[in-house]
Amino acid sequence: MFTGILVTKDDAGYRATLQDIDDSLLGEGDVTLRVEWSTLNYKDGLAITGQSPVVRRFPLVPGIDFAGTVVHSSHPAWRPGDQAILNGWGVGESHSGGLAQMARVHGDWLVDLPPVFSTRQAMAIGTAGYTAMLCVLALEKHGIRPADGEILVTGANGGVGSVAIALLAGLGYTVVASTGRPAEADYLQSLGAARTIDRAELGTPGKPLGKERWAGVVDAVGSHTLANACATTKYRGAVAACGLAGGMDFPASVAPFILRGITLYGIDSVMAPLALRQQAWQRLASDLDVAKLEAITQEIGLSEAIAVGTELLKGSVRGRVVVDVQ
Ligand code: NDP
Repeated sequence: MFTGILVTKDDAGYRATLQDIDDSLLGEGDVTLRVEWSTLNYKDGLAITGQSPVVRRFPLVPGIDFAGTVVHSSHPAWRPGDQAILNGWGVGESHSGGLAQMARVHGDWLVDLPPVFSTRQAMAIGTAGYTAMLCVLALEKHGIRPADGEILVTGANGGVGSVAIALLAGLGYTVVASTGRPAEADYLQSLGAARTIDRAELGTPGKPLGKERWAGVVDAVGSHTLANACATTKYRGAVAACGLAGGMDFPASVAPFILRGITLYGIDSVMAPLALRQQAWQRLASDLDVAKLEAITQEIGLSEAIAVGTELLKGSVRGRVVVDVQ
């Protein structure tokens, strides 16, 4: 038995409870780990509250990411004592996840903990931060350089947004942070944003093409924000779309694509191939300022995860939340 959060759905309804969990509820896999730290991502908020059908198997431990130490392995790459990170692969959705003291997964899903990070720091980054890095890699691969102009980051106070700002600023880009919380402007500027804009500017229906403003965009919001970001991206610029905090729709026109040659990159962290994950984690290890990481991180215990997961969906949580699972 171990302690964790369990999501159940039965005649009494959908609920998440902190409880003792039997080993038999661990998922299938060839590596068993002692989870040290997990986190709360947007998707974890959805899984905890049941607000969206993220959990596809019951009962299930939520938590789409964790970092911990291997206690048992029949996988050739992993031995007891190894430290590893797990992001995605359906964990916390259809396979029991990280918001518990133990987890069992397939060894092919795990990434080595970069030596510069503790398991806590890895989860301060978490899936949100690793996704931010995937966005940065997409913009870099497109050829966008700091001299090309401003990079817009939407959902700026969130996990993806906060890490994206810190990463991009550290790489020398001029970052404009779009936020619904102007009171957090000092925080966003401390992460490296050159200035902030009110998210209302981008959040309502706009023209098919607007003034060319951004060399590149990291978008965690979707809907009108993504459409307007595309419409205001400079000629041959690129937009990395990873989120839907403002909506899943994409009410856009083809004008920015066929008249300005912009590129829209879809960023998926869940099924990303191992080599890309390893590249992202290596780049996080070399490029992310850990002092900034600490500044965006708040720590909670497992007993607080259900309440904070609910708050996260209201958009009132800033930065990253790490969960001390032990
Ligand atoms: P958070 O909840 O931490 O942050 C989301 C931020 O978006 C909020 O802090 C807020 O920023 C802004 N926001 C919230 N509600 C709205 C709204 N209605 N309209 C406009 N902006 C809003 O989430 P994460 O950073 O963890 O994730 C961001 C998005 O990215 C989510 O949709 C998540 O599902 C997605 N995601 C996708 C991944 C992938 O693989 N593609 C992986 C990880 C995340 P502010 O207050 O500054 O405006």
